[in-house]
Amino acid sequence: MDELNRAWQDRRADPEGALQAARQVAATAASDGDDLLLGRALTVEGACLVACNEYEAGLRALLAALPRLQDAAPPALAMALAEVGHVECVLGDPSSGLDHLLEALALSEQIGDRAGAAATLNRIGIAFLALGELDDARRSFERCLALHEHLDDGVAEAGARNNLAKVATRQGDHGAALDHLAAARRGFEAAAEPRGVAMTDHNTALVHVATGDAAAARPLLEHAIDGYLAAGHPHGAVEARTDFARLLDPDEPERALAMFELAHTEAERLALPRECAAAAEALADLHRQRDEPTTALAWLLHLRQVERQLFDQTSDRRLRALQVRHQLEQLQRDSVTDMLTGLLNRRGLERVLEQAALRRRSADEPVSVVLLDIDDFKLVNDRLSHAVGDEVLRRLGTVLRETVRPEDVCARLGGEEFVVVLAGCELAGAHRVADDLRGAIAGSDHWAALDPALQVTVSVGVAALGTGPGVSEMLAPADRALYAAKDAGKNQVVS
Ligand code: GH3
Ligand code: MG
Ligand code: MG
Repeated sequence: MDELNRAWQDRRADPEGALQAARQVAATAASDGDDLLLGRALTVEGACLVACNEYEAGLRALLAALPRLQDAAPPALAMALAEVGHVECVLGDPSSGLDHLLEALALSEQIGDRAGAAATLNRIGIAFLALGELDDARRSFERCLALHEHLDDGVAEAGARNNLAKVATRQGDHGAALDHLAAARRGFEAAAEPRGVAMTDHNTALVHVATGDAAAARPLLEHAIDGYLAAGHPHGAVEARTDFARLLDPDEPERALAMFELAHTEAERLALPRECAAAAEALADLHRQRDEPTTALAWLLHLRQVERQLFDQTSDRRLRALQVRHQLEQLQRDSVTDMLTGLLNRRGLERVLEQAALRRRSADEPVSVVLLDIDDFKLVNDRLSHAVGDEVLRRLGTVLRETVRPEDVCARLGGEEFVVVLAGCELAGAHRVADDLRGAIAGSDHWAALDPALQVTVSVGVAALGTGPGVSEMLAPADRALYAAKDAGKNQVVS
């Protein structure tokens, strides 16, 4: 577990090394059959892949991690959900991303993990920003900032202020934006984070551009370009160069031209189609103004090509995000479904019973449960084989579903025990339903089709839903009734 924690800490500074470490732990966990450790290792593996910009592979690892973490480990589950949400946002699906991030936040808060909650709040703010929900974005960043202040994490605090400045700029509150940026810059400087300093200079310049103060913006942009390059962040330098060239445009056309061209060359080298398109559009404009229609046209054609590429990339990402959502829904369905019968499994039943218990309390609605156990099922396995036993279980599931109303919930509790939940049903009514079920099973022609001598009957206990927590507690009264039915000779209902 120590190795895994270290890999998690290192995932941004050394994603390749951390990835290798996580994969090693995953391999060991898989061969030891330690599902929980495997889930944790897959989460770290996914996060490392995401840090390497390998979103699809990262997502695959994270999706494989989620079902292994469902029950046992809220902190690990929160971590995995936050990563999934983050990737969905990156892949162009901020609304699904937001759902998973909010789920992760609730878990982090529930277990008192403030650092996890703060990191997730930051991502939630970014998702709201992408959706244009500025007030929600601001509230998220403010909560994130408060937590980081409490945790005394200077860099993260500066990051949160930088994000608050983005919201304030979009809302036209330039004074607040400049205040946040000044504080963020101090934070990054104190922590010796040159990339953060360059970023705040850049964003401060953009606030000045928005208020029409080009003189204040220019030196800041020059500073930002140098800072980004020194910090090894050429992507930032391309964006700052483009912003700077725009500022030069009317007065210094030669310099603007050279700077857009440089930004374009760099954007192409770094494979940044969005920045390529911005520079190409500006270059086409400039050449048209200079009465150079052939060059202007060449840039326009290039722009079309880049925009097509950008469109393909975006729709490709959307498609992948949709596939991811589908996989997640499938996983969630699988995790509550009994694979043999297609009915709910014990975990699914637990959720249904919890909801029924809530409704009973809030709406004073009666809830009856019917617990069925196949009589002498061991003999079916012994005489006719385990495979025939499985087929009996499958067909019994079908008989249950076909006999009850669509709104009644059928589950396989495990082994040869089944449960039907009858919400809104008093005990007397439930007893009638249970006896219909017993009769339908005993009289079904499924069994003779499997073996001429096969007969299948069930003993049934009916009772009101017991008080939880836990499935066994909620089913305890029905279980006592079931025992009475077995004792009284089987193939009968006791309530
Ligand atoms: P009783 O009437 O007292 O309920 O007797 P029983 O034989 O039904 O009950 P017992 O609890 O002794 O045995 C249950 C059997 O169910 C034993 C086990 O092998 C079998 N069983 C449990 N799960 C499965 C399964 O998934 N498939 C098959 N084929 N058999 C199963
Ligand atoms: Mg049994
Ligand atoms: Mg049995």
